[in-house]
Amino acid sequence: MKYNWSIIGHEKQLLQLEKDIASGNLAHAYLLAGPNSVGKNTVAKKMAGILQCENDFCHSCNSCIQVEKGCHVDTVVFEDDGESIKIEMVRKILERLSMTRQAQYKILLIQSLERMTHDAANSFLKMLEEPPEKTIFIMTTDNIRLILPTILSRVRVVKFNSVSHAYLKEKLKNLYPESEEETLETVNLLSLGKTGKAVHLMEHPESLAEYLKIYHDIQNFLAYRSVVERFSYIEELIIDPKKIETFINILTHVMRSKMLEMEADSAKHTKALSKIDEAAMLLKKNVNVRLVLENLMLQI
Ligand SMILES: [Zn+2]
Repeated sequence: MKYNWSIIGHEKQLLQLEKDIASGNLAHAYLLAGPNSVGKNTVAKKMAGILQCENDFCHSCNSCIQVEKGCHVDTVVFEDDGESIKIEMVRKILERLSMTRQAQYKILLIQSLERMTHDAANSFLKMLEEPPEKTIFIMTTDNIRLILPTILSRVRVVKFNSVSHAYLKEKLKNLYPESEEETLETVNLLSLGKTGKAVHLMEHPESLAEYLKIYHDIQNFLAYRSVVERFSYIEELIIDPKKIETFINILTHVMRSKMLEMEADSAKHTKALSKIDEAAMLLKKNVNVRLVLENLMLQI
């Protein structure tokens, strides 16, 4: 690869982006789509760095440093703050960008594009149909199914996937040669093939400890048969909304492993997995969290 992306995996996707850059065949809008925590937002930011740097993504010039820090005047990041995306905000940023004349490109990074409301998406479509000159949208989504087909037809979609257990293990070993085997094994187990998550867990022991606790909680709680015990676990969980996504991810993982271990029961586990998927979709739509989780508890 030409550029120093410092990213684990996704070689095919990065090569595709490099090819677009090298051939001058850049799309006005990219949508990086795939499971959460595989590093899509990191790739988006690095791509912006590559486009804004005049020295082949040197990591040390002002442009590189500013893009990395999120303070580059022509590169604006719309972070996922859990709120829906208002089209007025996008418009204002585009107006502001049209007034600066510093960098080669005006870049708008939009995290979790699925947060855009239906109305906003329709107005956004018009922007994509007549994109301002030298403006590039680099967007991400964990859930491509929630993006309007008309939007999808106007963007270049790059699909990201999780990586295999064995691949991630080898990469982690290379990246963290000093780490203990047990830590590497645990991180590999808990990161579910998501490279971004794996690096985060390696570098934040407190997150790793929290993940491990949820993993053990789930093992315990699946052994509970009583609804009261399960519901009381939900009560604990919803105190900290950030934990819910982790809980759902690890629960999916545990269920999948169980399915592989016990082939005889696979129909039961497939059903449980689809219930978990359904709950995860509902949770993204700001519904009553307690209700969704309690329902899930009754079905798995
Ligand atoms: Zn640079």
